[in-house]
Amino acid sequence: MSGKDPKDMRPATRVANAGRRKEWTGPVVNTPVWRASTHLYEAEAARKAAGKSNADGGFFYGRRGAPTQWSLAEALTQIEPGAHGTVLYPSGVAAIAGALMAVLRPGDRLLMTDNAYDPSRSMATGLLKRFGITYEFFDPLDLDAYAKLFDEPVKAVWLESPGSLTMEVCDVPALTAIARENGAVSLIDNTWASSLGFAALEHGCDIVMMSLSKHVGGHSDLMMGSASAGERWYRALRRTSQELGQVVSPDDAALAGRGLRTMAIRLEKSTASAARIAEWLSKHPQIAQVMCPMLPDDSAHALWKRDFTGGCGLFSFVLSSDDAEASGKVADALQLFGIGYSWGGFESLALPIFPHDHRAAMVSPTKPAGEAGARPAIRLSIGLEDTDDLIADLAQALEKLDNQ
Ligand SMILES: *Cc1c(COP(=O)(O)O)cnc(C)c1O
Repeated sequence: MSGKDPKDMRPATRVANAGRRKEWTGPVVNTPVWRASTHLYEAEAARKAAGKSNADGGFFYGRRGAPTQWSLAEALTQIEPGAHGTVLYPSGVAAIAGALMAVLRPGDRLLMTDNAYDPSRSMATGLLKRFGITYEFFDPLDLDAYAKLFDEPVKAVWLESPGSLTMEVCDVPALTAIARENGAVSLIDNTWASSLGFAALEHGCDIVMMSLSKHVGGHSDLMMGSASAGERWYRALRRTSQELGQVVSPDDAALAGRGLRTMAIRLEKSTASAARIAEWLSKHPQIAQVMCPMLPDDSAHALWKRDFTGGCGLFSFVLSSDDAEASGKVADALQLFGIGYSWGGFESLALPIFPHDHRAAMVSPTKPAGEAGARPAIRLSIGLEDTDDLIADLAQALEKLDNQ
């Protein structure tokens, strides 16, 4: 790698170059797997000196990582505009817990977007509650109601945009500005867009979290998470993570580092493919609504276009059928889509979803206000297969609903 700073490169060039320090890679291209618990010192004086700094890049002991993990963390910092540093966690959920625990103390109040990933909600209602933290879920599209919540002190706001399952894009600059005026810290789950599609810190967030199991890994074969921040909150994240004894395996860090090299091109392809499939579904007679920010008719599209520089392959749609089993029938009839959790891999997935089961403050598109029954819905993760093959597969699966 040349001496050019990756921060001065355009995103696709940055993901190809980030984190590849010569002292970590040696003569090879990607940082190899440095598998170690014990780090050996030349002499006692060197051991004493090593204990003085706990920054990434200094050999000390395996729990502080080694070049494979440092390289990945540095790469993620270099592709995250405004970040001073990145902490790696053994999963995305561990990153959510690590970030919230770095900010919150007993007695604090947390506001969480109502369309947050379900385990984030469980963190508020479970772990954090047990530690004396109170919470409220808010509708991220109702700025007035949100602003009123600051009549009582708020320590932190947890955002996710687009929201899990239902894909609403919220006004992150407006929400974080209100938080800041009231002395609250803004955190965001940016797994959907990644740092390539949404520069969260530059849109007002203090801490940005990602599940690396999704786009960064990209091949459905590893679990990892990250949190990045400016200097102040990076220190707090790092201290809490070290107190909790968290470390990621060098084998997984090497896989994630390899996935990162192709992330820009994979996202470009799956975003374009998802946009075409969403458009096709939106004209299909069996579909009541498509929830995809890339779709020009979607209510999330204007904010997505204003604030985001990219999308991804993940979106949802609601069937017009009133048979609660219809989403399962479609998923079973699909031949190219696996049924499974997670997303962001090279392979396409379909997951029947029930968003109304996980909402306290918002009306769900699958269960509009006042409606008794709930409409069946499916979330798709579009992979790297040929788009026309995926459309043909969806067409034959939806046709089976007609023939019942
Ligand atoms: C998957 C996911 C997570 C959790 O990540 P894991 O690596 O599976 O623990 C967090 N947020 C969102 C939006 C996710 O989709």
